[in-house]
Amino acid sequence: MILSVKEIADAIGCASTSERMISTLLTDSRSLCRPDETLFFAIKTDVNDGHRYVAELYRRGVRAFVVEKIPDIMTEVCDADFIVAGNALEALQRLAAYVRSLVDIPVVGITGSRGKTVVKELVYAALLKAGKKVVRSPRSWNSQIGVPLSVWRIEYDCDVAVFEAGIDHCGQMDALKDIIRPTIGVLTEITDEHDGGFDSREQKVAEKCKLLKDCRTVIEGDDNRKTAAMILEALGLSPDLLDGIEEVSTRLDVHDGVNDCLMIYDEFTDDPASLAGAIDFMRRRRTASRRNTLILGDLLHRKGEDLNLLYARVADLLQIAGIDRLIGIGSEISGHSDAFDPLMASEFLATTDEFLEKYNISHFDSELILIKGDTSFVEIRRRLETPRHQSILEVNLDAVVANFNAYRSVLNPQTGIVAMVKASGYGTGALELAKTLQSHGAAYLAVAVAEEGVALRRAGITMPIILLNPVTTNYQALFAYGLEPAVFSIRELEMLIDEARRYGRTDYPVHIKLDTGMHRLGFIDNEIDGLVGLLCSTDRVKVSSAFSHLATADCLDQNEYTESQFDAFERMTMKLAAGLPYAFRRHMLNTAGIMRYPERQYDMVRLGIGLYGISPLPPEETHLPLRPVASLSSTIISLKEWSPATTIGYSRKGVLERESVIATVPIGYADGVDRHLGCGRASFIVNGKRCPTVGNICMDLCMIDVTGADAGIGDRVEIFGPDAPIEVLADTLGTIPYEVLASVSPRIHRIYYRE
Ligand SMILES: *Cc1c(COP(=O)(O)O)cnc(C)c1O
Repeated sequence: MILSVKEIADAIGCASTSERMISTLLTDSRSLCRPDETLFFAIKTDVNDGHRYVAELYRRGVRAFVVEKIPDIMTEVCDADFIVAGNALEALQRLAAYVRSLVDIPVVGITGSRGKTVVKELVYAALLKAGKKVVRSPRSWNSQIGVPLSVWRIEYDCDVAVFEAGIDHCGQMDALKDIIRPTIGVLTEITDEHDGGFDSREQKVAEKCKLLKDCRTVIEGDDNRKTAAMILEALGLSPDLLDGIEEVSTRLDVHDGVNDCLMIYDEFTDDPASLAGAIDFMRRRRTASRRNTLILGDLLHRKGEDLNLLYARVADLLQIAGIDRLIGIGSEISGHSDAFDPLMASEFLATTDEFLEKYNISHFDSELILIKGDTSFVEIRRRLETPRHQSILEVNLDAVVANFNAYRSVLNPQTGIVAMVKASGYGTGALELAKTLQSHGAAYLAVAVAEEGVALRRAGITMPIILLNPVTTNYQALFAYGLEPAVFSIRELEMLIDEARRYGRTDYPVHIKLDTGMHRLGFIDNEIDGLVGLLCSTDRVKVSSAFSHLATADCLDQNEYTESQFDAFERMTMKLAAGLPYAFRRHMLNTAGIMRYPERQYDMVRLGIGLYGISPLPPEETHLPLRPVASLSSTIISLKEWSPATTIGYSRKGVLERESVIATVPIGYADGVDRHLGCGRASFIVNGKRCPTVGNICMDLCMIDVTGADAGIGDRVEIFGPDAPIEVLADTLGTIPYEVLASVSPRIHRIYYRE
């Protein structure tokens, strides 16, 4: 949609006389791309406040804002339009409802726990085939903010709209329904996802059904393709349009590439709107040292669409996004090479095979490469990947976000979350986690050693970082990278103060570690007076927080001890507070603490293992819907049939009792598969079947019994993950999941993906 600021103000119920034309609504400052046509909504959420970004966006060229209050430094500005609304999110929603009222077309509204996006994309592709002009939610924009932004994309000449509505709490659907006002309501499969936000399953279903209430047609089903077919019929179209259309994957992943390249591979529908989303994801991973390259296939489009116009629009998008190099693959994009030619370095090829013939790794160097096209493009990704081990640790970043939000939902909105990414994110890799958590509103990151903090800063992480065990030798680096040390002794504190003086720092933030019962590190009761004296004698450092660590939060029979730690913490922090002339924050709870003692959340909590989808408590005590984040897998590289009494591996420890098919898997104890898992003590999953280890685990290899599993060379072997809980391996080893996860060797390739 394109509207003037005046019309928009009217729609929201405010006043403005500005004729400035707005084509783009923005709620996340990082996604800015057309500043002069952008209207920014300064939305307040539990964890962030859009007003913080108003001045920066003004500097970057934005001249129209919806705010709840004009920021003080902006009151003198006279060449920008400010619409002052009581609540910026509601204003956005009201605007979307207005935009919806401008058109009288069939609108499909889809809700449910699973399959929304897949159904929407199936219907979308079929409608394009039928020559319809369709507006739809990009990717899975289905939230209180995503839905209005999707609806804004309606244009006057659209034939059909298809929107998703997602909710995770009671009471959210009313707003979405008023915005979407579907004529065809669709309910896909309901699962236990997000049950936590509702009192009961019935309540959740009832909330979802609110979307369907005033629809002319209601469709329900848990088979994606059938549901899509029914939607097409409801629109008066043939379900045969679905023939040949594949269900899309919403997966978007990041891989290391050859020659210091980083690759983003997106399997989602290849059309301009989805391309814009993928480019936005790409822009957030940019660094000065890499060029920005796009490998793009023919775009999905409407039958009869003007392709000159389509590719000209795409070229414009790529130029604004700062793409330096384009490789177009496909007959249509090649046929429209003129659109790109003068704007950026571009090369065109007719087919993926031609690319694979012509290009090798020497053609790419220090580039951030977005790969977006049909399924054959996976071969391009393979060509450009760093050669790697057959074994991978896959990390689901959406699961990290879901877990983060699950914990957030049991905390007060103003409680800060310190995300523990020490030990390289408990083995999963700190950087991608940090990026994800930074954008989802974690208050702090915490690492154990300085190198970890420095690496995060070098990679562009700007949020505050606590350094937990800072026996520091290089204070200059500490200061330069803005790492905030935890301080646990007078000696450390004195050194820190001296160094702060040397480097001219004042008020350097520190976190005071108190020992209330762990008896590991920290100030004890009788050291507090000395501590207060030292802190009051200097302006070199300033206490940002005081904290302590629970020794028994996960021990169900040690509640008294835990309570004694809370008492000690109260006492010691009171003393500290009485002695210091300023306020500081307090925090105590780790993951188990959050689950068992939420009333002790103080100002912040330190969330560790729970982020990774692992509960420190037994299942019956775990009331949060945690999702596994990491899965370790390898592949079968050799298969042999052996007769009974054959022995397998070192020391002949694996003795076959029957005719067996034995697979060799290139992962061993040097990769983090503990040797104690050998000789049948653990099973790995192949084709959904549990296959026990046979014989001793070797350094780089292990053998498993795949008899009856119908296994082939190249089949995936899951060591742990969604089908093989890491908790089971930990139990077998007599240890905790923390150790199993943190032991995955750095030589195992990490792959990060979004669903
Ligand atoms: C590791 C750590 C945590 C997080 O513990 P989890 O059990 O993983 O939640 C919290 N606080 C401190 C000081 C830690 O070292």
